[in-house]
Amino acid sequence: MALVRSKDTKPELRLRSILGDMGVRFQSHAKLPGKPDVVLEGSRKVIFVHGCFWHRHPRCKNARVPKSRLDFWLPKLTANRKRDFAIHRELRKMEYEILVAWECQLAKPNRLKSRLRRFTEAP
Ligand SMILES: [Zn+2]
Repeated sequence: MALVRSKDTKPELRLRSILGDMGVRFQSHAKLPGKPDVVLEGSRKVIFVHGCFWHRHPRCKNARVPKSRLDFWLPKLTANRKRDFAIHRELRKMEYEILVAWECQLAKPNRLKSRLRRFTEAP
């Protein structure tokens, strides 16, 4: 797991192929705050793919912090979370709607698909 995310890491590709299957039109690598993974075409909606550990997915087993190095991890992870909130706030100010797709949800995408459908089809 690298802190610096490269373009087209796997979960992002998986999200894009799900959206493609759903017939959703989108752009990737948008120049917006936080570099959303997907920007829907023709609307102000963005989707982020978040790794459960680095972005602290609530109540997710993949987000558990190793107890042995809590003092090392906690400040790092808290900073990530704060940065996410700041980015989301900035995007909302620009009148973007935001959906977060968690990495663990991409493994079993059925529920995610219905969330994506609601998000993409809402006016
Ligand atoms: Zn998760």
